[in-house]
Amino acid sequence: MNIAIILAGGTGTRVGGDIPKQFLELSGQMMILHSMRAFAESEYVGNIQIVADSAFREKVEDAIFEDGDSPIAEKFLGFSDPGENRQLSIYNALKDIGQILGQDNIDGVIIHDAARPFVTVETVNECLLTLDGHDGAMPVLPMNDTVYFSRTGQKVDELLNRNQIYAGQAPEAFWYKKYLKANEDLLPDKILLIKGSTEVAIMAGLDVAMIPGDQRNFKVTTSQDMERARQILDNTGW
Ligand code: C5P
Repeated sequence: MNIAIILAGGTGTRVGGDIPKQFLELSGQMMILHSMRAFAESEYVGNIQIVADSAFREKVEDAIFEDGDSPIAEKFLGFSDPGENRQLSIYNALKDIGQILGQDNIDGVIIHDAARPFVTVETVNECLLTLDGHDGAMPVLPMNDTVYFSRTGQKVDELLNRNQIYAGQAPEAFWYKKYLKANEDLLPDKILLIKGSTEVAIMAGLDVAMIPGDQRNFKVTTSQDMERARQILDNTGW
C-alpha cells in the first residue's frame, strides 16, 4: 500500500491573516483540501496522513468530513505533529504511519505540500508508478532563466549550464523503508539542514528519477500566489 503524507505543519502567514496559508479558504474550500484531492482520487494511494499542529486539526477534520463519505474522508488516516523543520515533519509522519499500519504493510510514500493545491492525479500516479525501477521519483521543471553561481551573492563566480539544472517540485515519492532509513541516518542534527525531501535520498545514495513537472503545480507562498490560485480556480485567469 502507498501512503500520501500531506505537509501542513508550517506556520508561514506571509499570505496574510493569522492562520497559515494552507488553512485559508480558496474558492469555497480550504487550500489543504484542494491539495489532497488528487491523492484521494488516485487508485495507487491507500491512505492519507496529514502533518498539522493540533490547533488546526479540528478545522481540517470538519472540512474533510463535511461531505460524509468523500474520497478524502475514506482515505484519511490521521494527524502527525509538525517537526522543527519540514524534513522533521516528514520524519514524524514516517514514524507514525509505520506504527499505525505496520512497516511491512507500507510500500511507497508520496510527500506533498498542503500549499500546492494544483497537483494532478496524473502527476501523483506517474510519481508512484516511476518507483518501479527506482528508489524515488520527483517532478522537475527545466530552468527558463540563465543561472549563475555566486558564493557571496554579490558577484558571479561561475557560469552554470542551465540545460543541466532543474527545479524540483512536490510531490516526491520513495520506497518507505529505504526512505525511513535515509532519514534516520541524518538524526539528530544533519536533518535540521535539509530543505527538500529528495536531498535526504540523494545523501543516502538512492536513485531518484526525474519526471516532468507542471508549471501549474506551484507552491502558494505570497499573497500574489494566493490571488493567482483564486483566479485559476475561479476560471478568470491563467
Ligand atoms: O515553508 P514552506 O512553504 O517551504 O513549506 C512547505 C510545506 O511544508 C508547507 O505545506 C508547510 O506547511 C510544510 N511544513 C511542515 N512542517 C514544517 C515546515 C513546513 O509541514 N516544520
